[in-house]
Amino acid sequence: MYDIIIVGAGFAGAVSARKLAEAGKKVLVIEERDHVGGNAFDEVDEHGVLIHTYGPHIFHTKSKEVYDFLGRFTKWLPYHHKVVGNVYGRYIPIPFNLNSIRLVYDKKKAENLIDKLISIYGREAAIPILKLRENEDEEIRELADYVYDNIFVKYTGKQWGVKPNEIDPAVTARVPVILTEKDGYFTDEYQAMPGEGYTELFKKMLDHPNIDIRLQTSAKDCIKLEEGKIFFECTEFDGDVIFTGMTDELFDLCFGALPYRSLRFDFSYHDIDSFQPEAVVNYTVDEDYTRITEFKKMTGQKVEGTTIMKEYSLDYAPDTELLPYYAILNDENKALYEKYANLAKEYKNLHLLGRLAEYKYYNMDAITEKALELCERMV
Ligand code: FAD
Ligand code: UDP
Repeated sequence: MYDIIIVGAGFAGAVSARKLAEAGKKVLVIEERDHVGGNAFDEVDEHGVLIHTYGPHIFHTKSKEVYDFLGRFTKWLPYHHKVVGNVYGRYIPIPFNLNSIRLVYDKKKAENLIDKLISIYGREAAIPILKLRENEDEEIRELADYVYDNIFVKYTGKQWGVKPNEIDPAVTARVPVILTEKDGYFTDEYQAMPGEGYTELFKKMLDHPNIDIRLQTSAKDCIKLEEGKIFFECTEFDGDVIFTGMTDELFDLCFGALPYRSLRFDFSYHDIDSFQPEAVVNYTVDEDYTRITEFKKMTGQKVEGTTIMKEYSLDYAPDTELLPYYAILNDENKALYEKYANLAKEYKNLHLLGRLAEYKYYNMDAITEKALELCERMV
């Protein structure tokens, strides 16, 4: 009855479902949660505030194709995301930029340092902190140490449980030092929030006569893999299966569990108009939580009072309430993932797609692009 089965209704699954449905395929989406949207899901809390249940999600992309594709299912509200670090009570723009340098050093020292940095790297250059620390100039090294110690060490310790130089360099490179006067967390051309929220975007995207959705249904209970064949509800299924859940779980953890970091969120409502200066404040030198998000500053919602969320990071453990939010990327874990990916290749009609299934650190736009590419190949 179905041409394609998709496991998971997050960005990977929902974008694929829509693209394939529009190409005339009959698609079944299986989702174990009681809602669509994956980790981008949002909802209105008991105080009327639109919150992001699984952590703050800001859409940003360089790709017009991705922006336009998702724009078919939402009216984009332009939103320029800014983050500050709380460094001993002082708010410093993150990514650390020329304005941050001027806040930290006296005028003469700051301007000398800025001139030197620009002459070496060029204006608007983005320099990963681990690269900046390799510079041998004494003053630049002092700055790099300041940023490393006050922005990266404690936050990375909370987020990953290790030092910044002990994780994949691509992770800290997501937030480089930028030689610019423009504050802003992202430099992408398109930065926006979905006008009615992410959940509405997903509902519209999945609203197609060729798409059926089964919520609260886990692949564990209806999909079985055996000797190169996929069985759906005990019958061999020879259509394509796009799997966006955890690949180790799909294969019953046969090579061992892939390590993940999980998160715990602590929401609270405050009967005040504004809680903090920006939508997100990172706690880079103290506190147990990594950051506080104030939702209405991000969604643009006009509402009385404000809901904030403190975010705590911890290790994921299978078979608990905890969800797997972040793949822990290092050589050992990537090698373990490769064993699962090779096993998956024995199933010609199985496609692994998404942050969990591919064990990658995808942003929403990147996984949307990946899903569009995969589906174009499939049709
Ligand atoms: P998911 O959203 O995780 O969706 C997978 C879905 O599959 C889930 O709904 C899950 O329930 C379902 N599923 C899993 N296993 C099974 C199974 N066995 N059976 C049935 N269903 C199953 N990206 C940005 O671009 N900007 C941001 O600001 C941003 N902020 C983030 C903040 C946090 C805290 C986190 C964790 C991520 C953030 N991201 C952000 C990344 C973004 O969440 C991902 O890019 C996106 O969710 C990936 O989509 P996905 O479909 O691969 O995974
Ligand atoms: N990071 C940090 N301090 C900050 C912001 C980021 O140390 O104030 C490091 C940290 O290791 C983090 C990584 O940079 O995991 C990437 O940050 P990003 O904000 O991109 O992570 P996200 O929350 O989007 O996954």
